[in-house]
Amino acid sequence: MSFPEITRFAPSPTGYLHIGHAYAALFAEKIAKETGGRFILRIEDIDNARCKPELEEAIYEDLNWLGLKWEEPVRRQSNHLTDYTAALNTLSNLNLTYPCFCTRKEINKEIQRAGGAPHNADVSVYPGICKLLTETERMERINKGQGHAIRLNVAEALKITGVLSWKDWSAGLQTANFDCFGDIIIARKDIPTSYHLSVTVDDALQDITLVTRGEDLIESTPIHRLLQALLGYKSPQYFHHKLIKNSEGKRYAKRDHGTSLRFLRSKGKKPKDIRSMIGMDS
Ligand code: GLU
Repeated sequence: MSFPEITRFAPSPTGYLHIGHAYAALFAEKIAKETGGRFILRIEDIDNARCKPELEEAIYEDLNWLGLKWEEPVRRQSNHLTDYTAALNTLSNLNLTYPCFCTRKEINKEIQRAGGAPHNADVSVYPGICKLLTETERMERINKGQGHAIRLNVAEALKITGVLSWKDWSAGLQTANFDCFGDIIIARKDIPTSYHLSVTVDDALQDITLVTRGEDLIESTPIHRLLQALLGYKSPQYFHHKLIKNSEGKRYAKRDHGTSLRFLRSKGKKPKDIRSMIGMDS
């Protein structure tokens, strides 16, 4: 841990920060400090329907209260949609994307028809319905104004990149495995990007050297690694840290009001109390 690491904390303003976020933010800041690097705060607010300005303000307030220091100006994803569109165009020019007009219901129906996994109503592996459309059918539907997402043709993409791996400080050297992904959505129906695309573009543009985030997000890393390879980005290293859990062993969620930093603050807790609750005293 001697290289000056550039780390980031990248919350979405869709709820108040809770003590799990405090851990993630302090963890990223600590590594940056210990290696003589830099710590960056990024606001991931592409989801218009769920992100709220007052929740973004609350993020700054809560992090300030905790004693975190970050660089200004803060990158807000909603201000950089053109960067994501440029990346999307690069992928389209490689002939690796296609429009997908499916609804969730149609996707689940197709999975069931093909004898797939009906036990999970929220299945995310896409069975490739729209991949089979002809160029004429695609144009007809687009010209009719039919809403569509953009998917990445993962099998074709892997033919270009070959096997991919990444260094994970917690899990060791990882080989990206795509067995459990269908063709992933890289631009949603309602916004011209997606979490996967924006996060990959931003980590590259912000020169992040070490992505620290909760171990629940390790499943997304193969996708980010694939996008990095296709877009010609240098791959950062990763540290998927443990998730802070409550006394019943459950991870904290934004809907658990009782663990939000502002609730704890209103009950008289001090930043040092939060640090000791999450084992980040030093
Ligand atoms: N914005 C994501 C979240 O709030 C985190 C993304 C990441 O760290 O890659 O869960």
